[in-house]
Amino acid sequence: MKKYLLSIDQGTTSCRAIVFDTKGDIIAIGQREFTQHYPQPGWVEHDAEEILTTQIACIKEAVEKALAGDGAKEIACVGISNQRETTVVWDKKTLKPVYRAIVWQCRRTQNIAESIKEDSRFRERTGLVPDAYFSGPKIQWILDNVEGARSRAEKGELAFGTIDSWLIANLTKEKNHYTEASNASRTLLFNTKEMVWDKELMQVLDVPESMMPTVVPSDYNFGTTSKELLGFEAPVLADLGDQQAALFGQGCFEPGMAKCTYGTGSFLLSNIGEKFKLADGLLTTVAWQQEGKQPVYAFEGAIFVAGAAIQWLRDGLGLIENSEESENLATSIKSNDGVYFVPALVGLGSPWWNSDVRGTIVGLTRGSSREHFVRAALESMTYQVKDVIDTMQEDGIDVSRLRVDGGATKNNFMLQFQSDILDIPVQRAEQVESTAWGVAAMAGIKCGAIDCPEKLSEDWRCDHEFAPARNREAEYDGWKRALKGAFACATI
Ligand code: ADP
Repeated sequence: MKKYLLSIDQGTTSCRAIVFDTKGDIIAIGQREFTQHYPQPGWVEHDAEEILTTQIACIKEAVEKALAGDGAKEIACVGISNQRETTVVWDKKTLKPVYRAIVWQCRRTQNIAESIKEDSRFRERTGLVPDAYFSGPKIQWILDNVEGARSRAEKGELAFGTIDSWLIANLTKEKNHYTEASNASRTLLFNTKEMVWDKELMQVLDVPESMMPTVVPSDYNFGTTSKELLGFEAPVLADLGDQQAALFGQGCFEPGMAKCTYGTGSFLLSNIGEKFKLADGLLTTVAWQQEGKQPVYAFEGAIFVAGAAIQWLRDGLGLIENSEESENLATSIKSNDGVYFVPALVGLGSPWWNSDVRGTIVGLTRGSSREHFVRAALESMTYQVKDVIDTMQEDGIDVSRLRVDGGATKNNFMLQFQSDILDIPVQRAEQVESTAWGVAAMAGIKCGAIDCPEKLSEDWRCDHEFAPARNREAEYDGWKRALKGAFACATI
């Protein structure tokens, strides 16, 4: 019997389902986009039920393709990776959401985050920085703004979940209300040192304990897929937030190993081992916690606008037609000629955590062209990553090479510039689906289909290594001046 692993990869803009074999080769993919709702400037919502129906369609498509006409194949197990922090509140009995899902990018809860900024317990216990980005303030907002929600929650009728919990409750026969620590550690309500929901923090944010999912290990029997919904039964054996799944998929199992995913935003995670610690400007997050083992922690640099800057040049300004052409445009000029773009379009995340700063473009002359805008956007991805890595290094985390993945890593100019700026090798993974593979691999280890987990690290293959080729200190100095300017313009 050929054993396949199904990965459910629920992202910010699309749902995907990927069937892998046990070596990580892709057998079949189903992928569909779903609707983004922007009800007000700065607000972002998803329809949790649409996510569910879209995800089901993707799973059916991928599984049907993979198993077509051959009885000697089976889906051995399922893993789920998901967009993190996005918050759903639903009725425990009917599984009906009481409101649309509030997406991680949504800034509506800035005031709530501001109100807990000075409460050091949040930073010390959760490893996060109080910010609108995380789930806790989003739950409070739903309870305070959806009619009847607070009283129903207080009566124990409502459940909260990040998207993994929402999918587990809906796609399994058991309808379990579960999550695991890589997702729980993004809520501002989870004590990441003690690995339990923090009653005091829940009180501060006014979130009833009865709403919270049970936190189980990241590799666990989360339930069996419903045959009625999906057409097959298999155990769901792993659940990870998307960035932590990519860290696992990139084989970063040893402390000091780091990966960066360049998508809409960039997320740089560095494995720091089994001890919780804090570093200024960085988040401390649970990477994973496998059954019977100590949790593994990671430092995280969360950069909100990376590939999104290119999207904005395309959709907002109409300067380019597609993201691919950005590479040729950037390399058609010899240097940035002093033009810098600080893409603080939604404030800045790591290491600055400033919601007031806004985007700026500096250094323009009569000779500036769209090529300069494009190059400045691509360079800005690399400077922001350098800011994060420098912060990690100040905390004694020596990042000596960086493994990279994500949609924007198709851009060779950007990755070469990244290597130059960091002065370390940048390795693009051969496995383009690090996130989906990471959680599939964890499930595969759990069910025994992958019998030698150590090999996962040895089997990691580099598609291309970008080695440092030029000194870019002058450019980085220019970026730092541009950043200073952006901060000076912030309206506070
Ligand atoms: P996400 O998972 O966050 O939706 P993806 O990993 O699919 O993101 O990557 C898409 C992002 O990568 C988009 O923001 C897009 O602008 C950017 N992107 C895609 N191709 C390129 C490219 N060749 N050069 C630069 N950016 C790119």
